[in-house]
Amino acid sequence: MTRHTRLWRIAFPCLVLFAGCGSCGQGRAPVADAAPATPAAHTGRLVILGFDGVDPRWLRRWADEGKLPHLAPMLTEAGGTHFRPLRSTNPPQSPVAWASFSTGMNPGDHGIFDFIGRRLISAPQGPPVLPFPATTSFEPQPSGPPVATNLRTGVPFWKTLSDGGVHVEVINVPYSFPPDPMRNGVMLSGLGVPDVRETNSTFVYVGTDITPEHAAHPPGGGVLLPLRMEAGRGQFQLEGPTRPGHAPDRLSVSVDVRVGQPEGGLTLKIGQDEHPLTPGQMSDFVDLVFREGTTEIHGIAQFLCLEAGAQVRVFVTPISFDPRRPYSPISYPNDYAARVAQELGHMYKTVGWDHDTSALNGEVIDEGEFLREMNAVEADRRAMLDAALGQDDWRMLAWVSTSTDRVSHMFYRLIDPEHPRYDAALAAQYGDAILNEYQRMDATVAHVLDQLRPDDTLLIVSDHGFHDYRWGLHVNQWLRQQGLLTLRGGAESSPREFLLDVDWSQTKAYALGTGQIYINQRGRERDGIVSAEDAPTLLQQIRTGLEALTDESHGGRSIVHHVYVGSEVFQGGRSGDAPDLQVAFEEYYRTSWETILGGVPAGLVADNPRKWSGDHAASDVRDTPGILLSNRALVAEPGIVDLAPTAMRFFGEPVPANYVGQSVLAQESP
Ligand SMILES: [Zn+2]
Repeated sequence: MTRHTRLWRIAFPCLVLFAGCGSCGQGRAPVADAAPATPAAHTGRLVILGFDGVDPRWLRRWADEGKLPHLAPMLTEAGGTHFRPLRSTNPPQSPVAWASFSTGMNPGDHGIFDFIGRRLISAPQGPPVLPFPATTSFEPQPSGPPVATNLRTGVPFWKTLSDGGVHVEVINVPYSFPPDPMRNGVMLSGLGVPDVRETNSTFVYVGTDITPEHAAHPPGGGVLLPLRMEAGRGQFQLEGPTRPGHAPDRLSVSVDVRVGQPEGGLTLKIGQDEHPLTPGQMSDFVDLVFREGTTEIHGIAQFLCLEAGAQVRVFVTPISFDPRRPYSPISYPNDYAARVAQELGHMYKTVGWDHDTSALNGEVIDEGEFLREMNAVEADRRAMLDAALGQDDWRMLAWVSTSTDRVSHMFYRLIDPEHPRYDAALAAQYGDAILNEYQRMDATVAHVLDQLRPDDTLLIVSDHGFHDYRWGLHVNQWLRQQGLLTLRGGAESSPREFLLDVDWSQTKAYALGTGQIYINQRGRERDGIVSAEDAPTLLQQIRTGLEALTDESHGGRSIVHHVYVGSEVFQGGRSGDAPDLQVAFEEYYRTSWETILGGVPAGLVADNPRKWSGDHAASDVRDTPGILLSNRALVAEPGIVDLAPTAMRFFGEPVPANYVGQSVLAQESP
């Protein structure tokens, strides 16, 4: 394929999300007997704006350079007390941090430790452990939609507030899916809402340049479809949801392709509807109806014509649930998603992973196409915020945008000339992509400040900071070289993931996820060989080894900043699911792509070959804070876990006993 330089198989946030979990209880949080004295409730409103992944270092730098005119004064106002770096969770990444944001609990209690968890398998066949998507599960049903479960333990503060009588409006907060039934308020779920394929988000690329070999090895988060054209006509089947009662079979719709109309372009025909497109043109949202018997599953997607000449190439965005008729609820109440579409005046992306990072990472769309799509999505997000601000029925409004995170992941390579994927020509054109998104945040904050009343309180939150990701460490390979992990037949590496070639009878430790290491413990792992008494010594051995590890191919740099022992940092009701070690990498380093799903490739340190070039998922919580800005004075060292108690105290509601933080507002701190 012309712009498809490499085919990358897996991007970790883009796994099929089928998984189950039996350990996630949900219920109303108990209320503390000895909660701090509750102040009188405010008369004003509370507005929380979330911008995922905003780093205080970039914020400060661009504010100092005069590039963020509305945020800059907030950084210095009232002696600098309106701005604080915001302590993230360990590890500092979105599912973990937003779970703490919403529940007021630490990971040991809410049970989200990474995008990827490890499932212990007791059946005698197959591997004794498997990675699985740790945030949401989907259980197929004999009929009807799969049942989705948020694998986080705990009750979001907006539900507790709402049930206590505070009218809330919650828009696009990450990992708030399925939506929470509430007594007073509405919510539109954000990240966590799957596409109709029940995945995090899966794009489709259809092209005459796709061979069966390409199709068999799609990039992470994507499907590649060969297209055969004869006399200017072709057809492909666009797969959608699993057949109710017959998973993993999928329902599909047929798409006819005809080139030449309009001139130089093509026409896509779906059912009776025709969609003419010229090269570079993106369609409006197209209705896609997947039928099985009397069941209809409604999706919407956009089609981008990439080429319509000798080669024909079409990109299809991940298929969102139609907000007018979602197969399973994506909002509360169920019809709120449709009301949002009505207010916007058009359809909008409902899939939670709403920017096409996988397609850019898979190199089937380019930087310009990615940013164009991001602009459209973010315009819709602002319109949703605007519509909420224009209403007068809520007391607490929470709204989140994720573009600041996604653009940092994808464009860090263009602000670091040393990055393996640095490209001077692209840097000249797109080197300001991250700055532009910070400036969009700046404009959004200015707009919101304009609409606030004097007694309203604004909190601007990011869940973690960012780092440069140049090189990846093959953690399982390092464990093998230490004699702690053995491959079958004494092999020195394996091309397979999922720890499939591990000789468990001779393996003491293994790595899965972005930075997690587990002991192969007797009585816990099915084929465990390490006794509980020997585990602490082994953990210290691994910790010492990793912290001393240097990268001789890059000037002897230290690779690992710190290794946390799980039992020392993860306490609480879900600590049994926690990793035994959490590796926190130095700037420029992360767990390699292959390690995340249990790969043991050759070599120790590898160049990060992808456009996904900034990261934070396996960085040290101590040097990866997010930000907190306010129109009020803030306490000295706030953390993201403090936002839930802040909201409770703001409205004079009792703070649940399982909240570990305190209000971030200086006037309310004990
Ligand atoms: Zn991120």
